[in-house]
Amino acid sequence: GARLEDEIPRIRQMLNAAQIEFRYQGGERLSGVTLLAENVLGMCLMEAVTNVVKHSEATCCTLSFELTATKVVMRVQDDGIGKPGSLNFEQGHGLQGMKERLEFVNGTLDISTGAGTTIEASIPLIAK
Ligand code: ATP
Ligand code: MG
Repeated sequence: GARLEDEIPRIRQMLNAAQIEFRYQGGERLSGVTLLAENVLGMCLMEAVTNVVKHSEATCCTLSFELTATKVVMRVQDDGIGKPGSLNFEQGHGLQGMKERLEFVNGTLDISTGAGTTIEASIPLIAK
């Protein structure tokens, strides 16, 4: 598997091709995050951004990471058409796959909609 950082240029390229602005500050040091957790986040990132390109009709996509003492959180946010009830786990395999991979590392998937969609993938730093 690839490091998360290696996925960023591909993400940027995908969004660029779809004319969706990519906002990512970068520079986080994901210290304490295992390579396995990084791989899972990388897969979630790829699927989340693929969904943004395929479904969101967004003009902008923001990626951010938050590292606390106990967990790493990755957020993929778009300003597209996502609204409450519009995300259907039964419609495809992407969201379900993200959820299952995250559960494999004791993580969680949270999805919120409002002015667009926010996908939040959270993984504890210390195994339960
Ligand atoms: P697959 O991922 O299997 O190729 P899919 O993308 O349709 O198919 P999911 O990734 O599980 O399936 O997403 C389920 C549904 O949720 C999508 O079909 C789409 O209607 C909606 N959806 C997902 N992400 C977004 C988004 N960023 N904005 C708006 N709608 C979304
Ligand atoms: Mg999908």
